[in-house]
Amino acid sequence: MKEVKSPKKPLIYYALLAVLILLVLNALIVPIFDKQQVKEVDYGKFLTMVEDGQVNEVEIKETQISFTAKGDEKTTYETGRVEDSELVDRLYNADVKFTQDIPKENSPLLNFFLFWILPILIFIIIGQFIFRSMQKKMGGGNAMKFGKSKAKVYVEAESGKRFSDVAGQDEAKAALTEIVDFLHSPDKYKEMGAKLPKGALLVGPPGTGKTLLARAVAGEAKVPFFSISGSEFVEMFVGMGAARVRDLFKQAQEKAPCIVFIDEIDAIGKKRDNGMQSNDEREQTLNQLLTEMDGFDSSKGVVILAATNRPEILDKALLRPGRLDRRIPAELPDIRGREEILKVHSKGLKVEEDVNFHTIARSTAGASGADIANIANEAAIRAVKFDRKKVNQSDYMEAVETIIAGYQRTNAVISTREKLIISYHEIGHALVAAKQKHSAPVEKITIIPRTSGALGYTMQVDEEEKVLLSKEELFNKLTTLSGGRAAEEVIFQSITTGASNDIEQITKIARSMVTRYGMNDTFGMMALETQSNPYLGGDTSLTASAEFAAKVDVEVNKLVKAAYDKAENILTEHIDKLHELAKFLLEEETITGEEFMKILTSKEIKTFES
Ligand code: ADP
Ligand code: MG
Ligand code: ZN
Repeated sequence: MKEVKSPKKPLIYYALLAVLILLVLNALIVPIFDKQQVKEVDYGKFLTMVEDGQVNEVEIKETQISFTAKGDEKTTYETGRVEDSELVDRLYNADVKFTQDIPKENSPLLNFFLFWILPILIFIIIGQFIFRSMQKKMGGGNAMKFGKSKAKVYVEAESGKRFSDVAGQDEAKAALTEIVDFLHSPDKYKEMGAKLPKGALLVGPPGTGKTLLARAVAGEAKVPFFSISGSEFVEMFVGMGAARVRDLFKQAQEKAPCIVFIDEIDAIGKKRDNGMQSNDEREQTLNQLLTEMDGFDSSKGVVILAATNRPEILDKALLRPGRLDRRIPAELPDIRGREEILKVHSKGLKVEEDVNFHTIARSTAGASGADIANIANEAAIRAVKFDRKKVNQSDYMEAVETIIAGYQRTNAVISTREKLIISYHEIGHALVAAKQKHSAPVEKITIIPRTSGALGYTMQVDEEEKVLLSKEELFNKLTTLSGGRAAEEVIFQSITTGASNDIEQITKIARSMVTRYGMNDTFGMMALETQSNPYLGGDTSLTASAEFAAKVDVEVNKLVKAAYDKAENILTEHIDKLHELAKFLLEEETITGEEFMKILTSKEIKTFES
């Protein structure tokens, strides 16, 4: 057995140790002190001394006689005890004090301690040692609590969030209002004979406020809110996940009406038929969840909400009517939604009156609610950094860029020649964009490097938000993205690694045009790729045959080359402007869209004059 070194031994160990030491001392050392100054004499001598009246006191013991002599109190004499019937008479006659020793017996209390208490204590101590070492071996000391564990449930009497804390998401809020109404007055629905949905599934990209919406429902309905994350069900020990599910539903039914919220349900709700990689524990947990969802009586007022950003991988059984049959989408906010979210998160901040939230919202296309909350906070931090009383527009705009591109790397060392190349690269993008129809106006161009690795960037902001993109617009985007590299080649006749991010984007867009948007004449409306998780970056998988796959590459390549050629043509045609703008950017490092357009148009007038 492994010895356990416990840093803090309980007091009882010390007490026992002390008792043991005392006992040993008592048994060994005390008698030694007793026997000091003992003189052995024979029985004859003893008798003579008695008769001579030299003996003071006699003690008759079981096997010997000890006595002291008159005038010599320090020495004890000893002699063997002989069968002597007249001894008592002799001593009496000699007028000697004598006593008979009673055979020594330990006190009953000590006996009790030695024979009963001590062994039990020893057993307890040994037992404790074994118990502890077992616990250590089985990890973390949890082993012994096995099976007793209650689902860790986060109960809030009121979640503290209201629908007013959630900006935008009007459709989701409308759908959830119905659930709130049900929790308020379940009888109304019962009377009508209507069955309410047992559960609803919130789906959407990360950071769109799914968790926030669920908590707002609890806040509005003023009911307890049980929140657990899907991953918390997946335990080290087989069977624990299922036990937790059972526990959760038991508690929920006791507290009804209430809301059970399972966040990131995909952690347990994955499709069960993934062949080789089957996971017993997860399946058991999922089965238990399905059973519990069927088992409880929804008329009591237990509503299950779940959230995921990967609805396509959920088990079909979870989504069938009677379980999580309602799907509530939480999409990325549109410009109005972003403006509202920005306002919600700026409520607690001290903001300058002239801050234009609409402008800020306009330049954050594609940002999620979480991103925007982050932008508001970043703006406030910046205002503090510059010792301002209130947050102003520039704080917000800089925060937007920080969230999009990372922090400014003010101390990055970049040579002048490299800066020149970067300037031409960025102006290349901007110029190509400006010279095409259907492309978003340039808002800002900068060559200050960012922590994200970007060495500079051109920010384009659409006048209005688009839900549809035409083939022309997509092709223009490809051309704009090609503008950077094209400028490098036109001016320096050499190319750099600076375009790697552009290349990635170009390929992605061109590929989608061919394989998913049906924008290629060779294939027409044929789906050659499917998107597997639209809410998380949208990885695609090829569904075409090998023969078509090769053709796809050819078509994508054609498209990319065409876009590049177009960009190159635009730049050679306007090479004067390219030079002038690039030099201006190199000096200024950051220029606005207005400054850019001013130079671009003034230049045009000049060329007409000459
Ligand atoms: P998820 O969809 O990933 O669960 P969360 O609900 O956790 O996202 O949102 C993260 C944070 O983003 C919230 O705490 C909130 O501050 C902010 N947020 C997201 N969407 C909104 C919204 N519509 N209104 C206000 N704040 C939002
Ligand atoms: Mg969440
Ligand atoms: Zn570029």
